[in-house]
Amino acid sequence: MAWENELGDKLFRENMQNVAPTGIIQYYNLVIQSGSGATITDVEGKQYIDLLGSASAANIGHNHPHLVEALQDQISKIVSYDCGYFTNPTSLKLGERLTKIAPGSRARKVSFGTSGSDANDGVIKFARAATGRQYIVSYEGAYHGSTFGALTAGACDTAMVHKVGPLVPGIVHVPYPDLYRHLKDETPHDIAQRYFAAFKRPFETYLPADEVACVLMEPIQGDAGIIKPPAEYVELVYQFCQDHGILFAVDEINQGLGRAGKMWSIEHFGIEPDLISTGKSLAGGLPLSAVIGNADVMDSLGTSAHVFTAGGNPLVAAASMAVLDVLEDGHLPEKSAKDGEYAKENFLKLMDKYEFIGDVRMFGLNGGIEIVKDRETKEPDNDAAAKIIFRAFQKGLILVKLNGNVLRFQPPLVITRDQLDQVFTTMDEVFADLEHGRI
Ligand code: PLP
Repeated sequence: MAWENELGDKLFRENMQNVAPTGIIQYYNLVIQSGSGATITDVEGKQYIDLLGSASAANIGHNHPHLVEALQDQISKIVSYDCGYFTNPTSLKLGERLTKIAPGSRARKVSFGTSGSDANDGVIKFARAATGRQYIVSYEGAYHGSTFGALTAGACDTAMVHKVGPLVPGIVHVPYPDLYRHLKDETPHDIAQRYFAAFKRPFETYLPADEVACVLMEPIQGDAGIIKPPAEYVELVYQFCQDHGILFAVDEINQGLGRAGKMWSIEHFGIEPDLISTGKSLAGGLPLSAVIGNADVMDSLGTSAHVFTAGGNPLVAAASMAVLDVLEDGHLPEKSAKDGEYAKENFLKLMDKYEFIGDVRMFGLNGGIEIVKDRETKEPDNDAAAKIIFRAFQKGLILVKLNGNVLRFQPPLVITRDQLDQVFTTMDEVFADLEHGRI
């Protein structure tokens, strides 16, 4: 909606009390009418640049003509048919295509679902079935979704998790490396070693490695604040998995499909995972997810333990084929990498200017900007971050925060340089408003 300052500020203060189920403060009330490329228009005709990118589900931009055309074409044939009994040419083509673009060269198979959450439940099922082992190791700070397996594997909001227990048994959490909030004088190597020691601790005490089915990891943690671990750490964990017959699974739902400057974020680490979960932008935000895994792993479960009536139905499969065309033909992962460098430079310039910016993390068009009370102590400033995003919203930017104090920068990958420049100019104004106490 279009907001007057006074009304906006009033609603902002009131809504500060309202905490959504995910723990994110509800700070505005956008009613979206339409979208095109990197912009969104609300019901009152106000246009915004979308820095949320529909929560990383709009990597190819809103209403891309190729996607719209593919949907129209599919609608004229058949909209949907139960996917448990039969399949259709579009889904078959998509399955084959996903096995080919999965990172690495292994023989793969695909299982479709309708949300990232169910894909992660699938990862847990496939890993347990393939290994005959019960335990899953996942990470503190992770978000893997809302269904029971995914919710248990994630650890984003423990208050929410504890209200709905009992949770899925056998899931163990280990700490995720943090290159920003580290101990004094630690190098990335020291950090990798310290966190790898923490990773091994459960194995050295109560967790027999030969009872662990898989390690599930976001190669870059999204909802935790766009956090990338040291490559050395990921390599150590992967090697540990190899040594102990543990499957290595990656959640690419937020960070895959070009978001992190490569088709898959795990490609930053040169590792071939056994299982990959993907969703969100896979069908341009329409309900489609997939587990892509080693063929033998995927064959282990049988046909009826992870199947959904609408999972991979022809309409979303057609959308997904169009999304992959646009990502590949438009070289969007490469564009994301290049524009991400440009965005980083510009945010670092703003960091030089404003003391409350504690850290700029940017991997592709995929950033987390930490708002802190003090650069030395790195104490998060949640209130300041809330003011920033609210003013940004008033000035025509859709901007939200992660983990209380981190500005989330995940625009559609088709965003233009002119739009990016407009974002940096506007953010400068917003930061100045905070600096001078105008918000
Ligand atoms: N995994 C990650 C890394 C996510 O960011 C999300 C959603 O935010 C999910 C899983 C869950 O996906 P969905 O909301 O489609 O169930």
